[in-house]
Amino acid sequence: MINGERLISRPLRWAMVGGGRTGQVGYKHRTGALRDGNYQLVAGAFDLDAEMGRDFGVNLGVAAERCYPDYRALIAGETARKDGIDVVSIATPNFTHYEITKACLEAGLHVICEKPLFFTVAECDEVARLAEQKGLIVGVTYGYTGHPLVHQMAAMVKKGMLGDIRIVDLQYTHGFNAGDDVGAGEAVKWRTNPRTAGPTFVLGDIGTHLYYLSEIVLPHMKVERLLCDRKAFIPTRAPLEDHATVLMHYDNGARGRLWVSSVNAGNMGSQRYRFIGSRASLEWSDSRPDQLIYQVQGEPERILHHGMPYLEEESLAIDRMGALHTEGLGDSWSNIYLWIAQAIDAANRGDRAFLKTHHYPGIAAGTEGVRWLENCVRSADAGATWVDFA
Ligand code: NAD
Repeated sequence: MINGERLISRPLRWAMVGGGRTGQVGYKHRTGALRDGNYQLVAGAFDLDAEMGRDFGVNLGVAAERCYPDYRALIAGETARKDGIDVVSIATPNFTHYEITKACLEAGLHVICEKPLFFTVAECDEVARLAEQKGLIVGVTYGYTGHPLVHQMAAMVKKGMLGDIRIVDLQYTHGFNAGDDVGAGEAVKWRTNPRTAGPTFVLGDIGTHLYYLSEIVLPHMKVERLLCDRKAFIPTRAPLEDHATVLMHYDNGARGRLWVSSVNAGNMGSQRYRFIGSRASLEWSDSRPDQLIYQVQGEPERILHHGMPYLEEESLAIDRMGALHTEGLGDSWSNIYLWIAQAIDAANRGDRAFLKTHHYPGIAAGTEGVRWLENCVRSADAGATWVDFA
């Protein structure tokens, strides 16, 4: 069980780029990072509007002189200080991730970056080489993948409790973009423009969460071929999609079906995962994240609750609240930030042995998401045809 006890040698001096007052994801980062005292927020370039960013940073408790107008000033100012930052989180629109990540790594700073990591696998590979060369960590934040019941699913699959995995059914949908974008805010504008969002809208925005979580549960399975059909129901969003379905063939013969949509009007179900094996199935949804449905063929359905002693050690070890008290998105973010802090701490100490076995969402997790997106786009743009996963 995780109880906030420090698991690294010293707290990391931490800065954020983006995640300002109006940013959607910024508070999730701060919730995750500040929970256990592994990070101290000491600097930032929180907003495109430098004045608002400064005011916001000061209200977060950051010294005014360490609230910078942009990321370049942040890097210059902090690398010049003896007590400068160790790590930067990047919570800005997609098109800025690559240039900010590279600049931070080149300045000797660890990075925690939002998904989708970059626009292309070539960019991911280049940055992975740079990070390796510099001995620095790049972490990636897929929100729910630190939840204890996600790791319960992985442990049950690993133990063979489902039998052979046959069907993977993934859904992340909502209806917040069911209407047109007239008068839409910045967060919708940049998401629906290929220059700022990259080659996809909902596939990258929410589909990469599904894909990475399924990789955690099914690390032994790889996608061999896929077919992606995407559409913009609101035509101004084309060539990007607000709705897509992806069929996947896995290397063990399993079949996958993935549905992402931001035009599922009225739907608040968000994420749903179903893993079906030859003997049993698991189903988990973020609308009831502390419950996992376990169905064995021919037996009554069971609902497993987080924190209960009947769960696998892999799940209990990362539980925070204990049974009877809801474990949710904030707890998951805290685990993700803890795992990345442990990786950074090990890198700082030159502990390569620890890094070899330590599980955290690193650059490979970001890269695989971008690779999956590239394959989806290749299939969709060829008229929704089957493509070999490259
Ligand atoms: P947003 O538009 O709501 O907020 C972006 C923030 O970044 C704003 O505060 C803006 O002022 C600031 N900003 C923009 N460019 C900047 C720059 N160059 N320097 C400094 N600040 C800058 O966007 P959002 O919804 O918070 O998304 C940000 C990123 O987070 C995206 O990559 C998105 O895909 C990702 N995201 C991830 C999750 C998750 O669960 N992991 C959830 C939501 C968004």
